[in-house]
Amino acid sequence: MTQDFAGRTALVTGGNSGIGRAVAGQLARRGAHVVISGRDAARGAKAVEELRAEGGTADFVAADLTDLADVRSLAKQALELGGGHVDVLVNNAGIFPFGPTAETVESDFEAVFAVNVRAPFYLVAELAPLMAARGAGSIVNVTTMVAYFGMAGMAAYGASKAAVELLTRSWAAEFGPAGVRVNAVSPGPTRTEGTAVMGDGLPNLAATTPLQRVGMPDEVAAGIVFLASDEASLVHGATLPIDGGRLAV
Ligand code: NAP
Repeated sequence: MTQDFAGRTALVTGGNSGIGRAVAGQLARRGAHVVISGRDAARGAKAVEELRAEGGTADFVAADLTDLADVRSLAKQALELGGGHVDVLVNNAGIFPFGPTAETVESDFEAVFAVNVRAPFYLVAELAPLMAARGAGSIVNVTTMVAYFGMAGMAAYGASKAAVELLTRSWAAEFGPAGVRVNAVSPGPTRTEGTAVMGDGLPNLAATTPLQRVGMPDEVAAGIVFLASDEASLVHGATLPIDGGRLAV
């Protein structure tokens, strides 16, 4: 496999599960030093063990992204582990407590915006200026197809990811002139640890897409890694739907 990420450090938030874990695997196989984060240290240690067993270079940093001090500390620890540079940032960690608006408790609303919006915002605030100073870097945000259309039960979640869509384009404008590319992917229903609780809801949602099937983490990760790579050197401020065609219809 091509080692096009050799010498680069990639921070993948939520890299101990689901889509993030698949991204970490693909980046490590292409030579990146992967720093993954999450709250669950046991899952983090297991992921690092697996990545290293495959010959990759990987570290885990425990961080609760609802806590802004943890967010800033994560950026600093990733920089230290990367020998002073983080070249790729994948803002993947996210939570999706679905439910009717009237039944959404304040703590869930606040957590959704803290993890899905505030954490990426301050990771970019910490890391993008350093990428800009080096004249290179790539940021990929993970949003969702429901950032683009209304779906009952997904108001807070969809709104949080719609904010990240706009942040993607804002950061493209802000950091592009310094050589830092910023893009996003908007996945459709994907089988992960996080969506296991949806049961039949996941395939039922996937049945509304033209391809009519649930996606797998590696299929979403492939798009993220493409955007992070030099193969996407002129792709900037874009969102790649990886949703079985749901946004096309
Ligand atoms: P997942 O399996 O539930 O993984 C979520 C990751 O986020 C875990 O690594 C988790 O680690 C981390 N995380 C959650 N809350 C956190 C917190 N407070 N602090 C730090 N880390 C936290 O989810 P997934 O399905 O792979 O989803 C990944 C991303 O894709 C999310 O942004 C999601 O919105 C988006 N997405 C998923 C789908 C889908 O169908 N799966 C569709 C569209 C978009 P810990 O538990 O260790 O904290």
